[in-house]
Amino acid sequence: MLNSLVILGASGSIGQSTLKVLRQNPGRWQVLALTAARSVDAMLRDCLEFSPRFAVMVDETAAGELAERLKTHGASTRVLSGQAALCEVAAHPEAHSVMAAIVGAAGLAPTMAAVRAGKRILLANKEALVMSGAFFMEAVRHHGAELLPIDSEHNAIFQCLPESIQRQPGFCDLAEAGISKILLTGSGGPFRYTDIGDLDKVTPAQAVAHPNWSMGAKISVDSATMINKGLEYIEARWLFNAAPEQIQVVIHPQSVIHSMVQYKDGSVLAQLGNPDMCTPIAHALAYPGRIESGVEPLDFFSVGEFSFIRPDYERYPNLALAMTACQQGQAATTSLNAANEESVAAFLAERIGFMDIAMVNESIMTALGGCAAGSLDDLIALDGMARARAHELIEELAR
Ligand code: NAD
Ligand code: MG
Repeated sequence: MLNSLVILGASGSIGQSTLKVLRQNPGRWQVLALTAARSVDAMLRDCLEFSPRFAVMVDETAAGELAERLKTHGASTRVLSGQAALCEVAAHPEAHSVMAAIVGAAGLAPTMAAVRAGKRILLANKEALVMSGAFFMEAVRHHGAELLPIDSEHNAIFQCLPESIQRQPGFCDLAEAGISKILLTGSGGPFRYTDIGDLDKVTPAQAVAHPNWSMGAKISVDSATMINKGLEYIEARWLFNAAPEQIQVVIHPQSVIHSMVQYKDGSVLAQLGNPDMCTPIAHALAYPGRIESGVEPLDFFSVGEFSFIRPDYERYPNLALAMTACQQGQAATTSLNAANEESVAAFLAERIGFMDIAMVNESIMTALGGCAAGSLDDLIALDGMARARAHELIEELAR
């Protein structure tokens, strides 16, 4: 069915914004499945509202509790549990679109299952693409899946590309289409004006308080270190078949221009709007049509001015690291992504400091960036190895 939707990571920030957009368009989408790691209360509430055929909880105990509570409400949603069930609903024959909004490399297997089943993938889970790059894109081509970017920058770039490229952006020739550069914008996060010497004292609460966007904890810390922009640089490399020199990072503190495409005739096309993920989600859900997103129209008079700053790599060593990884190749980006997930989790648990994140990431990437990366299995093994090494290093730092 054309309007049948699976939401992977339904309890998270992107998952909840997706449900908000569905509420703006009642009756237009049928939710086939909602999935979450373990948030029973949120899943119960959303299952009662959206009546999905399936609800998947990764955690078995949480699944049991959800099933019990749904039963007392007389709901017919079937509750499944475990990683295999995530893949099963992502590839369900009746699913048309799959919102891939699990955070981190944990999203790779279910997103790949949707790709292999030839679905329309609404891709928020950038880490899956950073981790598997060419293998992911080759599977998209081989299985005739359709990729629509949800990350606001990539969604903006997509909207600024010619329609011929939108049909298969991962295999396009940007130069042939007259494009000279992709301008990837980022706010610079909460610490863009903090003294660099004070960054090692930053707390998790300060790091997750993003000035413009409301997001999950991991991506909020990634935005503060700006590795998020680095992961997006790698994401753009794959989504738009862009060489590293065709992508430029531009700091734009107002977060109103979501990214731009520069053409060889001097034209620059940009996509603008209030910083609210409901806009890219609504765009991808309805593509090539347009629907209500519930986002306030942009008021240029209250924005006032736009500014642009060159990134400072001393302030953002993680950004430089990710750009280097992109040049270096797949083993570097996979090991960097895995190390970063572990170092960010350790920072959020107050085990290491803010500036230790880049130190752990660099050390793991240097050690493992030259490993074998000839198959998806190699990359999964490398991801595990990078996490184990990162754990050791974190233990030493935490002592
Ligand atoms: P979040 O932490 O708010 O939500 C994550 C979701 O994934 C939750 O539903 C959680 O239950 C589920 N989950 C966590 N671990 C899991 C596991 N091991 N297995 C299965 N499910 C698991 O994250 P978010 O901010 O919504 O981000 C989701 C993805 O979207 C990330 O990859 C992020 O980079 C990307 N993204 C988010 C935003 C944003 O505004 N939040 C913007 C652009 C891109
Ligand atoms: Mg983004």
